[in-house]
Formats: sequence, C-alpha cells, structure tokens
Amino acid sequence: MSKQTEEYPEETLDPKDWKSMRILGHSILDDALDYLETLRDRPIWEHAPTHVKAHFEGPPPEDPEPADDVYQEYLRYIRPHQLGNSHPRFWGWIAGSGTVMGMFADLLASSTDAVSGSFSYLSNNYVELQVIEWCKTLLGYPSTASGLITSGCSASNLIGLAVARNKMAEFDVRSRGMQNAPQQMTIYCSEEAHSSVQKAVELLGFGKDAMRLIPVDDSLRIDLAALKEAITDDRENGCLPLCVIGCAGTTNTAAIDDLNALADICAEEKCWFHVDGAFGAWAAITPDYKYLVAGMERADSLAFDLHKWMYLQYPIGCILIRNAGEHRSAFSLTPTYLAHGKGERGLTGVDVNWLSDYGFELSRGFHALKAWMTIKEHGTARYGRIIQQNIDQAHYLARLVEAAPELELAVPVSLNIVNFRYMRPGLDETGLDNLNKQIEIELQEQGIAVTSTVSIRNRNYLHVGITNHRSLYSDFDTLVREVIRIGNELA
Ligand SMILES: *Cc1c(COP(=O)(O)O)cnc(C)c1O
Repeated sequence: MSKQTEEYPEETLDPKDWKSMRILGHSILDDALDYLETLRDRPIWEHAPTHVKAHFEGPPPEDPEPADDVYQEYLRYIRPHQLGNSHPRFWGWIAGSGTVMGMFADLLASSTDAVSGSFSYLSNNYVELQVIEWCKTLLGYPSTASGLITSGCSASNLIGLAVARNKMAEFDVRSRGMQNAPQQMTIYCSEEAHSSVQKAVELLGFGKDAMRLIPVDDSLRIDLAALKEAITDDRENGCLPLCVIGCAGTTNTAAIDDLNALADICAEEKCWFHVDGAFGAWAAITPDYKYLVAGMERADSLAFDLHKWMYLQYPIGCILIRNAGEHRSAFSLTPTYLAHGKGERGLTGVDVNWLSDYGFELSRGFHALKAWMTIKEHGTARYGRIIQQNIDQAHYLARLVEAAPELELAVPVSLNIVNFRYMRPGLDETGLDNLNKQIEIELQEQGIAVTSTVSIRNRNYLHVGITNHRSLYSDFDTLVREVIRIGNELA
C-alpha cells in the first residue's frame, strides 16, 4: 500500500454490510406499501410544527450516521408532512396521485441509475420512444410527429414555444438571437392560460409585453372574435403574429377553448398553433368525452403532463411536435465529446435519434419507465374509464352543490374541476371571500380534505380539481357535508 492509501483507505459508497442494508430496504418497501394501503385512515395534510422545521437546520454531517437512523428521521420528520396529494380527498390545484407500479418503476430506474436521452442500443430510449408513440396514438396525434418526455408541462410549453419561435421568426434565431429581431413578435392566449406559458415567453426572449391576453367568454374560453381582432390590429401595426396558444383545460375551471376554431384561425393567419393540454388532453382517452378536446390533434405542438391526469409520480410530462424536423432543428447540437451518428456499433451508434437533440436537457432521469410499466399494468381502457370517472365525479359534486341551499356553484362544470362557495345571507362579497378562504384552511388543518381556492371574476371559490384515481363518490359527500358544517360554525 502506498502512504496515500494508508492515510485514505480505498472506499466506495456501497454498503459495507449488504445484509443489513437489504433488511432496511425490505422494511422501507413494506412501510411504503403500508402507507399507500392505509392512506384513507390518515389526515390528508399535517401542518409541520416548529420542531420539525428546526430539525432541518445545522451544518452538513461530516461523519456517517447509521442508515437505519437516517431512515427513522425520514419517517419522523419528512413523511408525515407531505402535500398529501396521494390521498383520496386531495383535490387542491391540479395534482396527480401516483401509482404503486410507478413507485416500483422509480425504484427500478434508480437501481441502475438510469440516464435517458443519449447513446444508442440502449433500452431506455426504446421505452421512451414507445411511450411517446403511445401518447400520439392515444391523443390522436399524427404518427409522423416527434416528441420528448419532459419533467412536466412547464418544460413542455417551453420546448413547444421554442420550436414555434425558431420556425416562425423569419430569421435565424439560433444564430442571431432575439435582440436582432426585425419585427415585434406577438403571442396570443386567453387570460386564463397558465403562468408557465408566460414564463416560457419571458425565457424565450419575447418579453411579457409580446403576450396578448385575450378576454374570455362566459364559459371562460378564449373569445374568438377578440382574438381575430387582436391579430389584425397587430399586423396593421407591423407586428408578426407568431403563435396562438389554446387551452385544453385551464387550471382555474378546466375551460377548453374551441380548439378547432383556433386551428382554423391559425391556418388562415399562418400562426403556429400550440395547445397546453396539461391535464385536459387526457379527456381524449375517455369512452364518452373525447369530443371535448376535438381539434387538439391539429396543433403544431401539444404539451401535456402525465403526472396530473395519468396519475403517475412526479415528474413526467410530454411534448409532441407535428414536424419532427422543426423540432430537431430547434435543439440539435453535437459537441465532439458527444459525437454520434457515424458508427453503427457501440454506445455512440445510430440506432435511434438521440433524444438530447429534441430538448434543452442532456442528462435526464428515466421517467418514461413509470409510464411504460403502469400503462401496461392497467391498460389504456381502464385509464380511460378512471379519467371518465373523475369527470363524472365532478358532475356529481356539482349536483350536490346545486342541491345545497348553503352552497353556490361558480360556473357549470366543463371537465373535472368544480368551483363553489359557501354562502351566508347578509355577508358582503369581501366577507364571503374571507369566509371561503377560512373554510379551505379549516378543511386542510382538520385533515378532512384539501381543496384550494381560486379567484373567478374576482371572487374566491373553493377549487376541487379531480385528477385522483383514489377518490370515491362518497368522498364528495364528505366534502359537501364538511364544508357546510365548517361554514355554519365560522359564519
Ligand atoms: C399544471 C399546469 C401546467 C404546468 O405543468 P407542470 O407539470 O406543473 O410544470 C401548465 N398548464 C396547465 C393548464 C396546468 O394545469
């Protein structure tokens, strides 16, 4: 042994004692399965008390701690204070609920420290490409399109709009940059579009002022006449109308824009048509509600999640681009250290396109595996039925709300979101806003249900977004009963 190795003995991060690590691993898996099996018996959300917060202070641990102790800390301080979105009565914002097979798949992907996106003769790529093919088939999108699994719809919107920009800008954006744009480029979406669209617009250098937020109609769908007028005005003022973004399910109310009409307008106006279908796109796989997203398949780019309405664990989203060449030319960049596509053999061969040529990230996790395994385990028909069940549950909840004199529905249900509020005669609008915010907090703190509140036409409503495969009809009975109880107690 050299002096060096005497002072610093050779070591790795693998267990010294595989046997006890194996025992720990088995109990972790058992605990995780117990947790999922008994979700209903626990409060949905538990406020993290001060001592829990204080636990996460202090310097990095210089010396090792026993693996069992580290795990006990997780059980004590981390697991109880999760968002709670796997629980059957979690309906806040729009959140997924996870699947058991998805958990296994994440573990398996981790077990080989799987990297996805580059290299050849690699099964990860075949899995990802097959999941992308399945998405195209399920959503009725052309088979010639390209796609990429992403970390979520924010990333998908960014990629879709990057391709739109580079294709439509009428100059070489990749070389010359946005500061050399000869014309003001403009982008159109409804006032109800998601904030990730604005973030993408800002990141891509258009600037927020390039966004034309088009008013909505009574159903909170984009006003088509106002859209056409805005495009005409901008053209007259020397702007380049570049892209229209259609919402297939807004976050507030799940409003679905008239996607066929938007596709027609884009064809006439020679604009790119991007659809943000974060969760709503999946209405396309239900037996009875496909018609709600008709026209989505005409988009030049289609962004959606699989961690919301396909119920998969975070993170996983997808972007599909109609023209694969345009997709590739927005992102392909091959440094010498990643040279590929010349040899037929080895990891740098050419068996499939390198997915790193279709997005901004090089190294990505093997997110596609959880989609592949879970979709196979359940089949797309069951998926379609459960998504439909969520839509039917939304209509059921809306009927309960309408039948209760204490409650008021904000807007008719368009998909899987119900917005309603508790009413109390004599309280003014501000009083009602505060009361309903208080009801949301009480529901959360009492561990009964998690809803969020949203502002619709400047008033607060409880927001129930149903992207939860575990919710039962009786859970909505509980919600309505408890909202009325809490409302009566507070008012
Ligand atoms: C959630 C959501 C997004 C953003 O998706 P992430 O997966 O959270 O990045 C975009 N658009 C809509 C309509 C959404 O609901």
